[in-house]
Amino acid sequence: MITFAPGPSKVFDQVGQYLQDAFQTGILSANHRSAAFMNLYQETETLFKEKLHVPEDYKLLFTSSATENWEIIAQSIVESSSFHIYSGSFGKKWYTFAQHLNEATGSHKLGTEDALDVAGLEIDGKHDLIAITQNETSNATEVSQELLGALGEKYPDKMIAVDTTSSMGGIALDFSLADIWFASVQKCFGLPAGLGVLILSPKAIAKCESKGESGRYNSLSFMLENAKIYQTHYTPNVLGVYLLKRSMEDHPEIQVTDALVRKRMKELETVIAQSKKLTMLVQNSETRSKTVMGIAGEELFIKEFKKAAEQAGMQMGSGYGPLKPTSFRIANFPAITEQEFENLLKFLKEY
Ligand SMILES: *Cc1c(COP(=O)(O)O)cnc(C)c1O
Repeated sequence: MITFAPGPSKVFDQVGQYLQDAFQTGILSANHRSAAFMNLYQETETLFKEKLHVPEDYKLLFTSSATENWEIIAQSIVESSSFHIYSGSFGKKWYTFAQHLNEATGSHKLGTEDALDVAGLEIDGKHDLIAITQNETSNATEVSQELLGALGEKYPDKMIAVDTTSSMGGIALDFSLADIWFASVQKCFGLPAGLGVLILSPKAIAKCESKGESGRYNSLSFMLENAKIYQTHYTPNVLGVYLLKRSMEDHPEIQVTDALVRKRMKELETVIAQSKKLTMLVQNSETRSKTVMGIAGEELFIKEFKKAAEQAGMQMGSGYGPLKPTSFRIANFPAITEQEFENLLKFLKEY
């Protein structure tokens, strides 16, 4: 059985070998203040720069999850309050956590078919950070990087934090467009859950220092102090970091993966366009995600389709929340092999 669920999702086939190697190299018993771990951290950060083209002066931090990153940003970087632009469940949850810490948090909800209208957007001067979900996994939408760039140009004095949990490692991101980026590894990175990554520009680090928040176990100032010497503030998920490093070493630079992901999405779209019973959940190609495809249909048909797919060894991702009975999702993630993807297309075409 192969899963097309968009997180946790299918892990890369090479993970079995990496796990064996992790055990054999002894890294799993290494102290996180040892040279072995510090090298592992530094090498992984270098790989983010080489393979994903993260700018040289940005810093990579390890956390437990994307959810933890939401809270770290709200607690340690936001000064007066944040403003959240979201269309679905993940973006809304981020907004809710921030609001819990700070009642003055603002928001703007996007419709799934509506591209962000940057020119028409009004964000009050009291908000010093814009929080945006670039790829909304729950409803299979995205905010394009062109619009992220336009947002940055309109609000040069506000900091932008971008949730790319289900797109980083899948599509090429222009990290110069924002100061704060994050993800977790069980989506496009194709690895077991339990590790989050947070990427900060020098400006974001300076903002954290000027805020001066400290004293919590995950206060960013405390994390950064440790990260300076490639250590972590608590005993980290060393296995997760090791798997990430090995996997990134074995993969080409992101432009190659990006091209593959986009090609596959086009093929999927073509098959759905020809189907009599299924439609794309998101009609607007400008707001449609490149890494998570949502497919809609009548309740009974969706139910039968999912069952038949399971019998053929393929598990579809469920629709999220209220969309559950009338849709399903397909993770267009890099860990899906060419053969698995071909089988999925064939099944969709012939069903
Ligand atoms: C999965 C996901 C999250 C949550 O990730 P965790 O690692 O479970 O905390 C947050 N944002 C988006 C867009 C996601 O897809």
